[in-house]
Amino acid sequence: MLLCAACAQQAGASATTTAPTREAITAPTSGLTPSPTDQSTQTPTSTLTATPPAPKVCSPLEVQPLKTIREIITQPFAMPRTLGNGTYTDDAHHGVDLGYYTRDGKTFTGSPALAALEGKIAALIHNRPPYGNMVMVETPFEGLPAWVIASQKIPAGASLYTLYAHLQNMQPLEIGQSVQCGQQLALTGLTGFTGGPHLHFETRWGPANNVFAVMAYYRADATPEELANYQKWRMSGEFHLFNPMELLEQP
Ligand SMILES: [Zn+2]
Repeated sequence: MLLCAACAQQAGASATTTAPTREAITAPTSGLTPSPTDQSTQTPTSTLTATPPAPKVCSPLEVQPLKTIREIITQPFAMPRTLGNGTYTDDAHHGVDLGYYTRDGKTFTGSPALAALEGKIAALIHNRPPYGNMVMVETPFEGLPAWVIASQKIPAGASLYTLYAHLQNMQPLEIGQSVQCGQQLALTGLTGFTGGPHLHFETRWGPANNVFAVMAYYRADATPEELANYQKWRMSGEFHLFNPMELLEQP
C-alpha cells in the first residue's frame, strides 16, 4: 500500500509538475524501486480499483479485540500426528482455546461468540460430544485473506471452515445461511467436553459446499452418520487442519 501510494504520488507529480520538482520528490524513495518499475506495475492495478475490498478477519469474541486475542489463549493449538496415508490422529488439540474465568467482574461464559470470517453456515450441532453446541462457518476461497491462502497453500476453489464450540444460546441460524464477519453466532458456554470456560476455535480448509448435518463421538448413542462426519472432519485428511492463530494474526 505504501509503495502504491508512493507511485501514485510520483505519477501525479510527473503529470502536473516540472522535471526538477519530480526529481526532488522521487529522490527519497529512489532506494526502494526504480520509478519506471513502479509506473509499469501501477498501470494494470489502477483498472482493479472497482474490485471488492480485501476480505477481513474479525475477532471471534466480542470481549477481546483481534490484536490482543493471543493474551487470552488458555490452551494453544497442538497439531495431531499425521499418518502415512494422510489421515490425522484424534489426539493433540485441534483448535485454540480462548477465554478466562472473570474479568472486570464479568464471567467469560456468556459472552458473544462472533464469526471470524464472512461465510455461510456449514454445521449447527446441538449438545453433542465433544464440541457441545457448535457452529461451523464455510468461507469460500474468494473470501479468504491473502496471508492464509499463502501460508496454508489453499488451492483456488477450496473453502475454509471455522468451528466454534462449547456454545450456549445459539442464534436462530440455518444451514446455508450467510453470516457477516463479526456477526454473533451464540454465547460462549460450557457444553460438550470442557475443562473450564473457553471458546474452542478450529480452522480447516477442504472441499467447498460441505455440510455436516450431524456430528458426534465418544458416546455409545452416537449414530453411524454422526461418527462418520466426526471422522471425516477430524481425521480423514480431507479437511486440512492448521493453527487458527495463523488466521487470526496477520503476519
Ligand atoms: Zn479446545
